Amino acid sequence: MTRVFLGAVGAFQKANLHTHTTRSDGAKTPEETVGVYREAGYDVLAITDHWKLSRTEMVGRAGGGQTAHGMLCLGGIEFDTPQDEGSATTHIVALGIEDARGYDGLPPADIIHKVHFEGGLAIVAHPHWSLMSEAGLLALAHADAFEIYNGLSFDTHRGDASALIDGMIARGASPRLCACDDTHFFTHDVGVCYTMIDAPDNREGSVMDALRAGRFYASQGPRFERVALEDGVLEVRCCGAEYALFLSAVPWVPGRRVVLAAGVASYSPLPEEAFIRVVIVDEAGRCASTGSLDVRQGGSA
Ligand SMILES: [Zn+2]
Ligand SMILES: [Zn+2]
Repeated sequence: MTRVFLGAVGAFQKANLHTHTTRSDGAKTPEETVGVYREAGYDVLAITDHWKLSRTEMVGRAGGGQTAHGMLCLGGIEFDTPQDEGSATTHIVALGIEDARGYDGLPPADIIHKVHFEGGLAIVAHPHWSLMSEAGLLALAHADAFEIYNGLSFDTHRGDASALIDGMIARGASPRLCACDDTHFFTHDVGVCYTMIDAPDNREGSVMDALRAGRFYASQGPRFERVALEDGVLEVRCCGAEYALFLSAVPWVPGRRVVLAAGVASYSPLPEEAFIRVVIVDEAGRCASTGSLDVRQGGSA
């Protein structure tokens, strides 16, 4: 039996799902921002200013149409909560909601519940930059995605939340993972990392359906083409990478690092490895990561 986690439809849409403009603390207007990402060849851009909701129709108009010269412009917002006693804060990016009222003062878990109630998607942004704990992240396991890589935070070496994410997975969570620039146009925060959405086209319905179904991955550069489980063997096809890592909640496993041959690597999970996070790495050390994949017999793609 074959279970395809990524690459079933044969097309991926390149997306930046977390972007700021002059509507909050970004340095470029929505129109300029749309232009930058369109020029960079993106298929999807979400404008997500702090506490300022952009609606898809509005962003699309700013960019010259909902699919501005072929790029889908999604509306969104970024909420944040006050620092707790451990001095962590929580930032949540919401996509697909129509009303931003009623979120102020809610704890982060309830922000996510409310976003879902309103029919939207919630992303936990930059967990490492926010100094979140594993326990704090586990309390938000109902989020639709966690930003494992955050472009802006690489400036302060807090852009990579892999250790926190692996801690969550080791404690039983199976998060879906995305990567975003968190663009402000402060420094080098454009095109640093992105989310690849496994959707046949970049129409809003196709993109939101794929995000809801977990058909996406996070990247700083390398690309997955297909990830599938066949007769107990996990096979990865990719490009732009040197080796693959098959990570799980088991600390030591032989053969977890596999050098790619013609862009292909395979791994047979041990019976005690219920979930695998596949990472591919290029020669510059840039990574791409799947979410935590359920590789148990009878698990779901
Ligand atoms: Zn933030
Ligand atoms: Zn942000």
